[in-house]
Amino acid sequence: MPGPYSVELRDFQMETPNPTGYHGHVTSEPPLAYIGCCGAYCRTCKPYRDGYCKGCKLGYATGERDLAKARCRIKVCCIKRGYESCADCPDLKTCDIIGSLHNRSSYKYRKYRESVAFICQHGYDEFLRQANTWTNAYGKLRPPEESPRE
Ligand code: SF4
Ligand code: SF4
Repeated sequence: MPGPYSVELRDFQMETPNPTGYHGHVTSEPPLAYIGCCGAYCRTCKPYRDGYCKGCKLGYATGERDLAKARCRIKVCCIKRGYESCADCPDLKTCDIIGSLHNRSSYKYRKYRESVAFICQHGYDEFLRQANTWTNAYGKLRPPEESPRE
């Protein structure tokens, strides 16, 4: 049975899972720790900025938070596997855990999915460069050659 990622991503193709070759750690620190496992970007997310949300991965490295108490299956799976986000996972295309979020109809989840696909294709540094200009947990992503540099 094909998984949710047998449906091609809207804007990005992922021919090879984890082309970044990057494997994160539960001890990751900002700026990478601002990237949510599902593709949400905590640093520019209003609930995080306003102090209502602790962010996806922040606080685990310092012991302020305990992964055993985390309720998000995506985060628990991703961090336990030692990935920075689901973009690093070879099972991304067939995973029902992340698929159940990314395939929801809301715009927000489609954007998270786009972020993960973008990281797969262009890597974390390029994602951070563009995401740091957002005013929300998601925003516009352009191919690097079309994204102006300061
Ligand atoms: S939905 Fe889960 S993986 Fe995504 S940002 Fe929230 S806690 Fe992290
Ligand atoms: S198995 Fe699914 S939820 Fe877990 S890291 Fe891989 S893609 Fe993410």
